[in-house]
Amino acid sequence: MNIQEVVLAQKEFFNSGETLSLEYRIDRLKKLRDVIENNIDLIHEALKADLKKPLFEAFTAETMFVINEINKVLKNLKRWMKPKKVSPPKVHLPVECLIRPEPYGTIFIISPWNYPFQLLISPLVGALAAGNTVILKPSELAPNVSKVVNKLISDNFPKEEIAVIEGGPDETNAVIDSNVDYIFYTGSTSVGRIIYQRAAKFLTPVTLELGGKSPCVIQDVKSLKLITKRIVWGKFMNAGQTCIAPDYILMPEKYKDDFIKYFKKHVESFYGENPHLSKDYSRIISRRHYERLKGFLGDVKVHSGGNVNDDDLYIEPTLVECEDSSPLLQEEIFGPILPIVKSESLDHSIQYIKARPKPLALYNFSNLKSNHDKIIAHTSSGGVCLNDTLLQITADHLPFGGVGDSGLGAYHGKFSFNTFSHQKSIMKRSFKFDVPLRYPPFPKNLKLIKLLLKKLG
Ligand code: NAD
Repeated sequence: MNIQEVVLAQKEFFNSGETLSLEYRIDRLKKLRDVIENNIDLIHEALKADLKKPLFEAFTAETMFVINEINKVLKNLKRWMKPKKVSPPKVHLPVECLIRPEPYGTIFIISPWNYPFQLLISPLVGALAAGNTVILKPSELAPNVSKVVNKLISDNFPKEEIAVIEGGPDETNAVIDSNVDYIFYTGSTSVGRIIYQRAAKFLTPVTLELGGKSPCVIQDVKSLKLITKRIVWGKFMNAGQTCIAPDYILMPEKYKDDFIKYFKKHVESFYGENPHLSKDYSRIISRRHYERLKGFLGDVKVHSGGNVNDDDLYIEPTLVECEDSSPLLQEEIFGPILPIVKSESLDHSIQYIKARPKPLALYNFSNLKSNHDKIIAHTSSGGVCLNDTLLQITADHLPFGGVGDSGLGAYHGKFSFNTFSHQKSIMKRSFKFDVPLRYPPFPKNLKLIKLLLKKLG
């Protein structure tokens, strides 16, 4: 089947109404869970081949993450699918008002390479839960995961229910141009703009899960050692190739020496004296990204790390300082380099953040509640995590998504179900009673109109 035929087959299958029932959705989700559980080693091996991803990270942040998501949906789906009664306008009594979530139809999910399994399959869970058919486009930069996902899905699901289209921009564009019913895109802000423009031709609704620079503010703190540990952990997971990784640090000069000292200590305790030899440290996804990151190191003051290896695309966990005009402080880093920016007050940090595009995540470390309250109130970001890094993504009941340049829309848990469902509003009137006021000829006196409406409402 070519791409257009796949889209047509999915639309035809969706129109048969088979995906609408609770039983069908539960059956598909259980099957997906079985497929993942039965092939978990294969998936982990593919993640290792693409990113040298450690088993622990592959399990916790990719396969187990998705299995947990499926289990959460299975527990709640019946309740989520129920039409929700809402208060009707009294003026039209007797009347009933309902919100009924209905599937969009054929969903197109486009994923990046950094968490190539989770970021493809987690939205799939939400899309299936909401009763849609799905076309998946894995990242061509993670070819092993792309191949494994294609095989597992093709062997276990008919193409009219779930299809995998491997490839890059050409294949992505061909699917969008076939007029799908919803696009869920995760990737860079620049490509997000291209997708949004292309979707506009058919007015296809989109969710855009984008990137950007997530700041990390340290101000008025007591436990710098633990703070540095949490930052080093969040920054160097997947070698910094995490959309919500701390991108840069804003902190006063007085913390700098201790921060550098603790940084070195924690990097060594996590990855050993030579992180190149560590089994727990990932590699850069491609030579292009590796060269881009290596280029960042040209004109900076290195406080720790800085070693690279061209043969296996290794970049050491690195702490630097640089000019504000350096590309490191202009572009999303998306790699294991962490710049420090001097910021003597919380107000300065807030102004610094506000002068730049809205981040996906904002991290604020402080022992003062007033600091947390202030930064939350005076900055805008997709999400905030106070006194830690990355963990906000694990909270079942928090929506995950960006704002402004970092994205449009959100998902995870119930938010995924809502994202992939159109919220259809339904009003049901009765034949029992009919207010004559609404029909012409109308009363001509405004005072009288107001009085009558007040009595009715
Ligand atoms: P990318 O934008 O290069 O690619 C993402 C997807 O878009 C891929 O599947 C690719 O094939 C496709 N694509 C690329 N160029 C295209 C074009 N011109 N037309 C149509 N499709 C195209 O992103 P990436 O390098 O894979 O991922 C890194 C980026 O993703 C970072 O900016 C990161 O912050 C962001 N990201 C965001 C999240 C999130 O949840 N918000 C998660 C992970 C990564």
